[in-house]
Amino acid sequence: MRSTSPLIDAFDRKITYLRLSVTDRCDLRCSYCMPERMQFLPKKEVLSLEELHALAKAFIARGVTKIRLTGGEPLVRRDVIRLVQALGGELGNGLEELTLTTNGTQLARHAQALADAGVRRVNVSLDTRDPALFAKLTRRDELGRVLNGIAAAKAAGLHVKINTVALKDLNQAEIPVLMQWAHAQDCDMTLIEVMPLGEVEGDRVDHFLPLAAVRDELEQRFVLTPLVERTGGPSRYVRVGETGGKLGFITPLTNNFCAGCNRVRVTATGQLYACLGGAEKVDLRAALRSDDPEGQVAKALDEAMRIKPERHHFVIAEGSESVLERHMSVTGG
Ligand code: SAM
Ligand code: SF4
Repeated sequence: MRSTSPLIDAFDRKITYLRLSVTDRCDLRCSYCMPERMQFLPKKEVLSLEELHALAKAFIARGVTKIRLTGGEPLVRRDVIRLVQALGGELGNGLEELTLTTNGTQLARHAQALADAGVRRVNVSLDTRDPALFAKLTRRDELGRVLNGIAAAKAAGLHVKINTVALKDLNQAEIPVLMQWAHAQDCDMTLIEVMPLGEVEGDRVDHFLPLAAVRDELEQRFVLTPLVERTGGPSRYVRVGETGGKLGFITPLTNNFCAGCNRVRVTATGQLYACLGGAEKVDLRAALRSDDPEGQVAKALDEAMRIKPERHHFVIAEGSESVLERHMSVTGG
């Protein structure tokens, strides 16, 4: 019989949010995320769409109410819309929200199908609106497609949140205008600190920009009023007086947000990472492909609750680049 007991970890945190990576592949090569010659996984190692659906159902049965599809780039996975439609069918049956984090390059052709399947909001990653800087940061000349994707998502009725990694000397000066642009088209925006995940070319430490500094700079020009709302995640939000929009700050390296953590991450190969900043994991693919998938998945989820660490262990400093060997594109952002 399928286990239905809620997912509660050793620190009494209830896990209600699953970030599910559907592929490690991507059509961009953001310099802080992956090297140009990224080694992608052989396809047979990646879970099938049916396996991803079965896993999602097991999580929903145990109290997960929100699923975010991510990657790599989720929309480059062939037939991913079939999975979105299948998961959309779970909305109202325990699942309350189905969302997606995307780089936006494929959004124009999928926005309507996402909305039709029950997706209401998407996060689109955009670090700059300067075509030359975009091409430099992502190593691909695709800004136009991303901006079209954002427009198509809005036209399909999706709420769009812009996620921007703050990068010293790169997009640092543009952040205020990017925020004004986002808010002018009714998009919330979240700023993210660069995290030490996976080998990349160049030195990420050089571009690490503490968000406290960005906030100080913004406060010279805008009135930022802290909002009390919390998502169980690492975001802290403010309302920007001059634009009326919402601005979030994700500061995993400078703040401790772990006490209210409500999430786990599953990679495209079915590895459940109990913490983005830790190595603790269980193998859900082995469980799924065993003789007793339901029993073994339930057991693996119990184990994940046992090993979820109390807090993350990120470090970023000279010489400590890549303390964690997996890329964000593997665990999903
Ligand atoms: N490809 C999709 C996208 O870019 O939105 C989804 C996956 S991507 C890994 C998710 C988020 O992680 C993006 O907003 C990206 O900017 C962010 N990201 C990637 N590597 C990062 C790093 N080392 N530190 C902080 N954020 C990172
Ligand atoms: Fe691809 Fe997203 Fe990583 Fe950029 S951040 S390379 S879009 S997975």
